[in-house]
Amino acid sequence: MTQVIRHSEALREKVAGWKRSGMLVGVVPTMGALHDGHLSLVHAARAQSDRVIVTVFVNPMQFNNTTDLQKYPRDEATDLALLEAAGVDVLFAPDVTEVYPDGFATTVSVSGVSASMEGAFRPGHFDGVATVVAKLLGMTQAGRAFFGEKDWQQLQVVRRMVRDLNLPVRIIGCPTVREENGLAMSSRNQHLTGPQRDIAPVLHRILVQTAQRLRRGEDVHTALAEARAEILSHGFHDLDYLDLRTADDLQPLDTLQGAARLLVAVGLGQVRLIDNIAVDA
Ligand code: AMP
Repeated sequence: MTQVIRHSEALREKVAGWKRSGMLVGVVPTMGALHDGHLSLVHAARAQSDRVIVTVFVNPMQFNNTTDLQKYPRDEATDLALLEAAGVDVLFAPDVTEVYPDGFATTVSVSGVSASMEGAFRPGHFDGVATVVAKLLGMTQAGRAFFGEKDWQQLQVVRRMVRDLNLPVRIIGCPTVREENGLAMSSRNQHLTGPQRDIAPVLHRILVQTAQRLRRGEDVHTALAEARAEILSHGFHDLDYLDLRTADDLQPLDTLQGAARLLVAVGLGQVRLIDNIAVDA
């Protein structure tokens, strides 16, 4: 049985009991509308911890756009059924006032890795992410926390924060789960129309082709410029970035060297898609 907990005090008592018995606690932070991508994190957490908490909290602080926040999909009953089937011990689903009570005054801000890409196009987003993740780690007291590579920059922001604040948790990154056609799973994909669902997988295909070209030694600027043009030719719009960056500290790369990542954010209809893949030299 998955127990639903809404208050941090009750969660703390639950976790304290587990820890007294020497159990290792894993947490999977999410915003709900769960899909197989989230569930892969849950399976990793189950394999690597004795007890698993999944948090479902649509964090207003990380949305820089009210419409996006309002239309973010929410379906707790379905989420709970999926978590039951996956053997999750606790669903922690707090209200906004539980997370941000009156007088809340603290922001966690990670400089450097937060500055570019998502940080540049969604001002304040990573402050919201870092603050809520710090809080969820504090509330759950988990020893391991599982995050998807789908949000690669977010994963680096969280790793940096945990190192910088000496938080007693190990961050585990898990591979991106994709539809058979290559589209990275995302709760926001629900808002794609039928025709857009045919276009969306092209994004991953172009990332893969571009990574191959870069590995073959093609000029980075040329390969990226051609890939940007190709993305837009397929009906995507508002290409915020398609960048080649160092994998960990996300520095821009003019030539392929070391562990690198190709990252993209682009609009398709009402949806903003983000994706990334490894491009090791
Ligand atoms: P979200 O609910 O979108 O905030 O995502 C919660 C967690 O699930 C984050 O760590 C995401 O990176 C991860 N996640 C979302 N989609 C995927 C996916 N397709 N594959 C792997 N992890 C994912």
